[in-house]
Amino acid sequence: MKITQFNIDTLIRDNVKHLKPYSSARDEYVSDGSEMVFLDANENPFENGVNRYPDPLQRKVKEILAAQKKVSPTNILLGNGSDEVLDLIFRVFCEPKEDNIISLPPTYGMYKVLCGINNIENREVLLTEDFQLDIENIAKSIDEHTKIIFVCSPNNPTGNTIATSSIEQLLTSFNGLVVIDEAYIDFSANESWINRLEQFPNLIVTQTLSKAYGLAGIRLGVCYASPEIISTLNKIKPPYNVNELTQKRALERLQHIKQVKEEVAQLLTDRKKLNAALLEVPFIEEVFPSDANFLLARVDDANKRYDQLLAKGIVVRNRSTQPLCDNTLRFTIGTAQENQQLMDALRSIAAS
Ligand SMILES: *Cc1c(COP(=O)(O)O)cnc(C)c1O
Repeated sequence: MKITQFNIDTLIRDNVKHLKPYSSARDEYVSDGSEMVFLDANENPFENGVNRYPDPLQRKVKEILAAQKKVSPTNILLGNGSDEVLDLIFRVFCEPKEDNIISLPPTYGMYKVLCGINNIENREVLLTEDFQLDIENIAKSIDEHTKIIFVCSPNNPTGNTIATSSIEQLLTSFNGLVVIDEAYIDFSANESWINRLEQFPNLIVTQTLSKAYGLAGIRLGVCYASPEIISTLNKIKPPYNVNELTQKRALERLQHIKQVKEEVAQLLTDRKKLNAALLEVPFIEEVFPSDANFLLARVDDANKRYDQLLAKGIVVRNRSTQPLCDNTLRFTIGTAQENQQLMDALRSIAAS
């Protein structure tokens, strides 16, 4: 697989390389904190809390994230959800109708959708039966137009962590980029790949405040990578892609990280309980090990059980259309009361 040394410049699209980014008012004048009169951005001057444009580089949010995650702010890009971050990655590196990426189903559906939107070929290599990387087939699918391999770990919808050694193999043998989607890392006992950014120049890690941090509604996705990759992504991002309300709310939550950790601990306790309870339901055949805030279970007839749960007012995710996932339902860990309602419904369905 390894042909030449990794070189970021050879991966960036030509138009992006030569792009002169939009320069906003807030880019040209950066406040040093002293009192100034701002007549540069055509804003309404009457204060209401959000009458000014937000910081285009979200410095305060990045500063606290950097301290907590032990990286530099220059390793961080923020986006309007991970979905924007992933889209930016596509648009910096993948030339429409020419390049391809590799995704590894069963996995998160957004990589495929972004291929469709950006007109990029999606080369799918199935995970193995135990939901791990099929390194041999991945290697066979790589050609000179393969820009990115997307690895989701812990994986959605299966819940498992992808083995460290096989990701290391990708990182050292592939000359393109390896994006590790860590949306569920806060629920896992495993170390984040952000700790190895300096070791692998072709590594990009994405995280989100939508899951463990309880902020799905504000849309804040995080990308960690080398300063070279981050500055290239910054070139093409919309100038004010993270709004003021989102920045404020994220900052508040990050300042109360203890609360986040307590909620995660509670969800992990409840995941264990729910796992045990699900195994007692006669029509549940298997519950897959999970490092995330959901459990994937194989049932006798997923469509039937899905409809029965729906009739009892409980919405779960039927993942049966995904390869290797026939007759599976995905249960998000809710509050203790919601999990109890799920169990009551499952027991009453089983008894009927
Ligand atoms: C939920 C989820 C995300 C989160 O996306 P946001 O746009 O940040 O809400 C990203 N990746 C995976 C695999 C997910 O399951």
